[in-house]
Amino acid sequence: MLFGRKHKNPIKITDKGVVEWKYTTCGYCSTGCSIEVGLDDKGEAVASRGVGGADVNRGKLCLKGIFEHELFRSAGRGKQPLIRTRRFDKFKTTTWDRALDRTAAEIQRIQSTYGRDAFAIVSTGQIMTEEFYTLGKLTRGVIGTNNYDGNTTLCMSSAVSGYKRSFGSDGPPGCYDDFEHTECLLAIGSNLPEQHPIIYWRLQQAMEKRKFPLIVIDPRVTMLAQMADMHLPITPGTDVVLLNALAHVILAEGLEDRRYIAAHTNGAEEFEALVAQYDPVTASRICGIDEDTIRNVARLYARAGSAMTIWTMGINQSTHGSDGVVGINNLNLITGNIGKPGGTSLSITGQCNAMGTREWSSCSGLPGYRTLEKEKDRQEIADFWGIDADFFPEKRGLFQTDIFPAIETGQIKGLWLIATNPMTSMTNTARIRKTLEKLEFLVVQDAYEDVETNEYSHVYFPAAVWAEKEGCFTNTERRVNLISNVVKPYEDSRPDLWIFNQMAKRFDQGRKIIFPETASAVFDELRQLSKGRMLDYSGMSYDKIEEQRGIQWPCTEGAESGSPRLYTDGKFEYEDGKAKLIPLLFIDNNERPDEDYPFWLNSGRVVEHFHTRTRTGKVGNLNKFSPTPYMEMNPDAAKELAIDHGSYVRLTSRRGDAVVMVQLTQRVPPNMVFIPFHFHECVNRIALGLLDPHSRQPAFKQAAVRVEPIVDQESASVRNVAARSF
Ligand code: SF4
Repeated sequence: MLFGRKHKNPIKITDKGVVEWKYTTCGYCSTGCSIEVGLDDKGEAVASRGVGGADVNRGKLCLKGIFEHELFRSAGRGKQPLIRTRRFDKFKTTTWDRALDRTAAEIQRIQSTYGRDAFAIVSTGQIMTEEFYTLGKLTRGVIGTNNYDGNTTLCMSSAVSGYKRSFGSDGPPGCYDDFEHTECLLAIGSNLPEQHPIIYWRLQQAMEKRKFPLIVIDPRVTMLAQMADMHLPITPGTDVVLLNALAHVILAEGLEDRRYIAAHTNGAEEFEALVAQYDPVTASRICGIDEDTIRNVARLYARAGSAMTIWTMGINQSTHGSDGVVGINNLNLITGNIGKPGGTSLSITGQCNAMGTREWSSCSGLPGYRTLEKEKDRQEIADFWGIDADFFPEKRGLFQTDIFPAIETGQIKGLWLIATNPMTSMTNTARIRKTLEKLEFLVVQDAYEDVETNEYSHVYFPAAVWAEKEGCFTNTERRVNLISNVVKPYEDSRPDLWIFNQMAKRFDQGRKIIFPETASAVFDELRQLSKGRMLDYSGMSYDKIEEQRGIQWPCTEGAESGSPRLYTDGKFEYEDGKAKLIPLLFIDNNERPDEDYPFWLNSGRVVEHFHTRTRTGKVGNLNKFSPTPYMEMNPDAAKELAIDHGSYVRLTSRRGDAVVMVQLTQRVPPNMVFIPFHFHECVNRIALGLLDPHSRQPAFKQAAVRVEPIVDQESASVRNVAARSF
């Protein structure tokens, strides 16, 4: 096919020979785009395209989605199970039975020697909901360790914690359609065009139809900030101060929704007393936003017919992440902006199925937003699974970020990692390396055998990836969508569901619990367990989900479709049906720039890559556009240190150092540098990693560093190349 004028080098679109298109859902970010994968006459995946009738993406895909079919046969895929007696010996290929037997025997040995909780399991936000549920059943109902969590603690646990504290339950109350109704949008620490390009496109479409103010709060001039009506370059880690000050102005000027506060919230008195201390003048000295701007934004937000706030890691990955989320919820509760079109608190999630793990994995409790702390919930699940309720612990165990220190101190001796790569994703890489070396047994289950963490394992399970399997993902706006098995699993890799089921058979108690073999049979359990609950799936079926290109929960039995918003009746999940206004005292425990380490270190994503590049690092066009760890630096600061654009520098913090290539840009102020977080042996060698007290999420974005030019540019280039290789 030819486009363009005759003599102007027309673009040629190669005919890929697609004979069949198969429906699925994108497996990267949480936007939840419906995607079709094109198969050629040999059944090979050769193309990807967006699905026109899908409400989320309406035919569009971002760069990652367009090349997603290349994943199936990309470099580094695991072909067969691997095993070795001692860490760092050469791996030997083995059979699935031997790999599973050895792992089950090690789990049993460690548990019988040191106690049930001495074996830990850490999963992901990237497998199917049915797989999460099955893993939870295996972990909570069969293996019985309480030290079980997901890597979502690194990205979403502050949002979960904040929602629970304010509303009595997790669950984002809004949806993308809110852009079509809002009269004021506040985006905090969220760079949609690069992180979630299709959500950004939805926002742009809404703004083209009807203008409303877009206010971006971010220390860096992100792409979204460049397109905003107002950009508030906040001092890192001070969101709580700004949010309190906005509430202060709204209450002081009588702009609050007093009727909503009285009818639907508790705690107004204590909240008002606390925010009275956060006047704009005092707040401006801490958060760096001048008092007039604070007043202006507060008035705009409160006077809008409906106003909404979205946020991503700029709020969550902080020592005050959970408080930041509560602060956003406070703002929306006092202005009556929850559960109405265009009025909401909408966390933009990271991984494709971070929501699925929150709902069904039992990491933080029991399936279907049940908790271990409630006897009724324990009994319900024990009855459904056919086990004794006493087998469950009465409160949740360690979060992922506490599991690694517990390995360090010898409390945990064995670990099963599922589709997560702590050697690149956790802060303080050197410490994580030592921690992994202390384990008596490590099993890594991943679609890629060259994932960095696999260097430290004893057994490797090659997992099938994305649309080599069947099941569901839930996206940011609670939309459950279908992943169909477009192609067969690569070589001898197996679906995670199969691996969990095989493991269950190796435990005595596993024989008492039924583990359905197909994803649709597991989905049936989810429908039964969710009936009448907030996250009701009972009105969904795989066929209906595909037909509607995704359905938002709650979708009750007999309902034609799902529900776009939560809390529309002002009834929250606390027993008395009221939300909580929670006073937030700001405690400044951030590391701050000083004489020795004069720059703020900020980190984030680039559009080409996903997380630790396990997948996107292998896709030619994505890696080609963004192959190298780099650092954004302000030209004025660079001039003072005699640093050139494109040269290599050493970046040092109190925890370690990294070598990066400099990109000079005005996107960062003179006292800040920014690094994409995707690269191995890079930002996480130096990041702070202090934990939020509620969510245990690490502070990835606020740290102090020093920048030094490197004389030997050639060796630095070699080190930089090492950081990006696998
Ligand atoms: Fe996939 Fe997210 Fe891109 Fe959509 S925006 S195609 S879900 S990576």
